[in-house]
Amino acid sequence: MPLSRRHAFACAACLALAPRSSPRAAGPGAPTSLDAAGALRRLMAGNARFVADQPHPAAPQAERRRALAQGQAPFAAVLGCSDSRTAPEILFAAGLGELFTVRVAGNGLAATELGTLEYATGSLGVPLIMVLGHEGCGAVAAAVQVAEQGLMLPFALMSLVDAILPAVSEAKRGNPNDLLDAAVRVHARRTARALRMASAGIAARVADGRLRIVAAHYDLREGAVSLLDD
Ligand SMILES: [Zn+2]
Repeated sequence: MPLSRRHAFACAACLALAPRSSPRAAGPGAPTSLDAAGALRRLMAGNARFVADQPHPAAPQAERRRALAQGQAPFAAVLGCSDSRTAPEILFAAGLGELFTVRVAGNGLAATELGTLEYATGSLGVPLIMVLGHEGCGAVAAAVQVAEQGLMLPFALMSLVDAILPAVSEAKRGNPNDLLDAAVRVHARRTARALRMASAGIAARVADGRLRIVAAHYDLREGAVSLLDD
């Protein structure tokens, strides 16, 4: 997809070059002081607050907005699904400016998602990317139906599902009781692995410890996010 790839990197470049003096186009602020381990602890602590139904101690929104107009310094990026039940800021009890989120049905990695995460790591200095799959994902369910029943989908939808089909095949080889659940977990792991090697910039940051990429699973009923083994 050369056109979308060009578009993705053009956008990232625009964002990186946005003048910091303009409030409407504020670029990066000083990056977060957290390392990957600290960022992961903060994410999981936020999720624990969410699971416990504790209120998020966010700063007053007007004050926070004014501070963020000078620049952003998110402490983590999340590549998650567009599903309305999986908004990262809510699941991790995070406030404005804390998470850099990329959401697409089925949390797959195409050129636009990669370009966005390149910006998060290269320009904003985000030390952690979480690939977040979730229980009952409709996009993964569609991929299972395509693989198992020959379901046909319109072209654009099929392009989303195509990216998930290898995870369905891998999950099926494990002969799971619940193919959908297994495919969701395998897909998140595969996407995290692919992301680690998807670009020279990201690979270099992973290699020297400036960036960690983890896969995780969100339980719709309990609200808990669980890390997945590599
Ligand atoms: Zn989903």
